[in-house]
Amino acid sequence: RHLLLKLRASGPLTVAEYMREALTNPGQGYYTRRGGVGESGDFITSPEMSQVFGELIGIWYISEWMAAGKPKAFQLVELGPGRGSLTDDILRVFKQLASLLSKCDISIHLVEVSPRLSEIQAQMLTGGKVQSSPRDDAVYMKGISKTGIPISWYRDIQDVPQGYSFYLAHEFFDALPIHKFQRTEKGWREVLIDEDPEVPDQLRFVLAPSSTPAMQNFIQPEETREHVEVCPEAGVLIQRLAHRVEKDGGAALIADYGHDGTKTDTFRGFQNHKPHDVLKAPGTADLTADVDFSYLRKMTQGRTATLGPIKQREFLKNMGIDLRLQVLLQNSQDTATQEQLHHSYDMLMNPKKMGDCFKFFALVPHHRLTHPDQKDNPQPRVPLVPVAGFSELSVK
Ligand code: SAH
Repeated sequence: RHLLLKLRASGPLTVAEYMREALTNPGQGYYTRRGGVGESGDFITSPEMSQVFGELIGIWYISEWMAAGKPKAFQLVELGPGRGSLTDDILRVFKQLASLLSKCDISIHLVEVSPRLSEIQAQMLTGGKVQSSPRDDAVYMKGISKTGIPISWYRDIQDVPQGYSFYLAHEFFDALPIHKFQRTEKGWREVLIDEDPEVPDQLRFVLAPSSTPAMQNFIQPEETREHVEVCPEAGVLIQRLAHRVEKDGGAALIADYGHDGTKTDTFRGFQNHKPHDVLKAPGTADLTADVDFSYLRKMTQGRTATLGPIKQREFLKNMGIDLRLQVLLQNSQDTATQEQLHHSYDMLMNPKKMGDCFKFFALVPHHRLTHPDQKDNPQPRVPLVPVAGFSELSVK
């Protein structure tokens, strides 16, 4: 009803406006109200399926921290933590490697718009022992993890303090609003959403009759596809991350389903683990679109080096998932647990399941991959170690 009133008052909406309202409207949005991540929800994610996923990501951060010469402090910043399972698995790795990290001051910073999901995260990570702040404070909740690490919650990345940080976004960028454009005989036209005049209260896609401001800004002159999706919010966010990694050091790891600037129409919905018509019952289903990693790479504007996108199965293999699976299988007593371990490994790694369509992409400071000129850097050179996950694992 809210969207129909809006359409009737001010005409068709862009797909981006529609997606933003459907997902994060404070009263009616899917994430704000429902937030159905997990087995009992609308879609299941890798960290919800297997503890190994988060453990290997935890090791990736420790490996980057060591390659940077073990800085005295770091922030782990997760965007859209869902139920909090990924950070929970990472914190368990940090605890297991406590002797290595004992002199390092670690803090956790979670960026989450959904009050409902932030409560679930607080329960998972702190056992529910959190303090809420007045509504307009940048930090809206604080707590201490079960492993003794301070955690703060924010609504926007801009509120997270600056400083040496590791950023993590898993299945976050795909939830950001996209614009859609279609090539026509008259040139590019933006795809909009309007009320169907034939069927009351039903929505339909229409093409804008003339050019729209978004179109002029977002379509590249060299574009060859017939249909394109552009996510300007993702562009702004990656610029912010690149800026922070360039200035303060650290790294950003982004994992999501996506492509390298080749796919066309990927906008879709999920409800109860089944495909859902994106125009039906907005606010009750997850809406999502593939991440265009070529666009993200371009929007870093060369501030950092970028790695990937590399397929999830290659990244996890390079991170040692096979060894980890063997250890967990040896330690498990019953066949049900062993079957579950095999099943979740297959979900993560099988090219027909999540192995190929999910990709890993990283931002690291330029000096992480190439030494600055010797004349600018009188320090003796430390040999550069490869970034884990993005090249083959060598077991010594
Ligand atoms: N990373 C988690 C959950 C992914 S679902 C996992 O892998 O299991 C997307 C998450 O992003 C949810 O927590 C949702 O509430 C959050 N989110 C969506 N849009 C957001 C926005 N604009 N700002 C902050 N968080 C957002």
